[in-house]
Amino acid sequence: MKHYVIVGNGVAAIGAVEGIREHDPEGRITLISEEAVPTYGRPLISYYLADKIKLDTLPYRDEKFYNDNGVKLRLSSRVVSVDPKEKHITLMNGDTVAYDELLLATGGTPKQPPISGIEGEGVYNFTTLAHAEALKDVIDTVDRVAVIGAGLIALKAAEGFAEKGVDVTVIVRSRLMRTYFDETSGELITRHLEKNGMRFLQGAVTEAIVRDGGGGVKGVKTDKGFVEADIVVVAAGVAPNMSLAAEAGITTGEGIRVDDFMRTSEETVYAAGDVAEARDLLTGEYTVRPIWPNAYTQGRYAGMNMAGANQPYSGGLSMNSITYYGLPTVSVGKTVEEPGVSVHTHLDEEAFIYRKLLFTEDILVGVMLIGDIDAAGFYTSFIKNAFKLDDDGMQLLIEGEPSPSLWPDEYIEAMMNNP
Ligand SMILES: Cc1cc2nc3c(=O)[nH]c(=O)nc-3n(C[C@H](O)[C@H](O)[C@H](O)COP(=O)(O)OP(=O)(O)OC[C@H]3O[C@@H](n4cnc5c(N)ncnc54)[C@H](O)[C@@H]3O)c2cc1C
Repeated sequence: MKHYVIVGNGVAAIGAVEGIREHDPEGRITLISEEAVPTYGRPLISYYLADKIKLDTLPYRDEKFYNDNGVKLRLSSRVVSVDPKEKHITLMNGDTVAYDELLLATGGTPKQPPISGIEGEGVYNFTTLAHAEALKDVIDTVDRVAVIGAGLIALKAAEGFAEKGVDVTVIVRSRLMRTYFDETSGELITRHLEKNGMRFLQGAVTEAIVRDGGGGVKGVKTDKGFVEADIVVVAAGVAPNMSLAAEAGITTGEGIRVDDFMRTSEETVYAAGDVAEARDLLTGEYTVRPIWPNAYTQGRYAGMNMAGANQPYSGGLSMNSITYYGLPTVSVGKTVEEPGVSVHTHLDEEAFIYRKLLFTEDILVGVMLIGDIDAAGFYTSFIKNAFKLDDDGMQLLIEGEPSPSLWPDEYIEAMMNNP
């Protein structure tokens, strides 16, 4: 009987348990996590901070899940090393755990930029339930918060505070959500959030977190002026937790490099989720895509392959879908207007509606939607499957009508036979 060991307890780890059990109902599974709580919906912590949901709605799988799947759960346990030759890992408390197949699903850690004053009280991160709990403890005692960062975690933290009536200023070095959205989208999102009371300082370099004589936060000094704040949330990106792999001699790049089976450079060690550097479906390049659907799917494939399924993962796709204060946004695939890519846009500034399509010749390779996202699923199907389109088909997509009647017959037949 195989012993599967999974480090991490996020969505990638859960996907792996489900993938293993699809192919191996008997093997032992041990899941080891540094966090003190069972798995939860990480993207939900801003709603928890804002009191929009209760703690009992956060779990992503209930505790019964672990029993039902025969998983031995070791919480509050940090793994400090991996020995791929001896096939065991070592925990902080000195225990060693032997494995037949190991998955590193260790996610990422918030980056701490070298800003003067960043160390000390009043400065927070926002990626874990413990971070949300720490902020919940102070949220009712603060009037002003400064958020440093421009990505989805920064905006989600800002939204959590704004919902609670706290005065929020987001300090952005370049512009909002630049990994997934273009300037026009960023402007629409900014305007919408400003309408809801948040302030933005874009193109501003943070120079220091300024403290008073007692060490408390007074505000943030930027090259565009001083932002008064009682506390600061630093959300300046997340770095993959890949040191366990790197120190064990496993190949790493931006993250832990994996092949199409989610296997690392070591035969019996796999990686998945925010820590993994996997092949991108569109570009073929190896990259880290730190988003929820990728983490689950990669985890699931890792689990299936650890259990011997030998099934390649079709590749990750850059994707982002978030609703900011009721404004839905979606970005899938390419966002950059490179040579050879044709671009078609539709903008209704008053209605906060924007649509941008990117084509390489007759194939849709990217889409951005703001305001009206009803057709997002259909657009994604065209990107994922690289369906070729004739002129009429392209026109329908450009006009916002990506009907499934444009799918190739073979695809529709395969869907009917394999619903
Ligand atoms: C506030 C917020 C909002 C988000 N919103 C969205 C969204 O709207 N859409 C979207 O697609 N994505 C969103 N994301 C990103 C998404 O949550 C992540 O992509 C996903 O959770 C990654 O899952 P994972 O399993 O790879 O890693 P994680 O969920 O980070 O889990 C890794 C686990 O490994 C543990 N660990 C690490 N090192 C060790 C060690 N040495 N020993 C033991 N345990 C260890 C960690 O403690 C952690 O529990 C959001 C993230 C945040 C923080």
